[in-house]
Amino acid sequence: MIAEKFGGDLIVDAYRPVEWLDRVRGVLLSPEGGERCSSCFRAQIEGAAKAAVAERCEALSTTLSISPHKDVGVIDLIGEEICRRYRLKWLYRIWRKSGGFALAVRRSTEMGLYRQRYCGCVMSIREEGTELMER
Ligand code: SF4
Repeated sequence: MIAEKFGGDLIVDAYRPVEWLDRVRGVLLSPEGGERCSSCFRAQIEGAAKAAVAERCEALSTTLSISPHKDVGVIDLIGEEICRRYRLKWLYRIWRKSGGFALAVRRSTEMGLYRQRYCGCVMSIREEGTELMER
C-alpha cells in the first residue's frame, strides 16, 4: 500500500527465523534496546544495504529511528559501518524527533494501516505483554 502510494517497488527479504536466532544466540534475553537489538539492526541494515546495491541506490537510511525504544547512536554506528563496506552513503535520520513518532502514528491511522504493538521478534511480543503470546 505504501509502495503503491509513493510509486515505488516493495522489496521484501526472505523470512529467515533460524538465521536470526543464530545471530542473537547468547543475547536473546537482553532487553529491547540491548545487545539483541544491535545484532538485529545489523541483520536488517545489511539486508537493506544488499538490496540498495542491487537497485543501484547511493544512500541508505532506516525507519528504525522512529521508535522511542531504539538507540539511534547504535543504529548510526552500525549503519555507517555497513554503508562503508557497501560503498553507500549513510543518511543520519532521527525520524521520531520533532513529533515524528506522533506524526507516524497519525498518518498510519489515517491510511488505515495495521500497527503492531511490538517491534517484530518473539521476544518483543513477550516484552510488550500482548495477548498474542496467550493465543
Ligand atoms: S525485532 Fe525489534 S525488539 Fe526484536 S531484536 Fe529486532 S530490533 Fe530488537
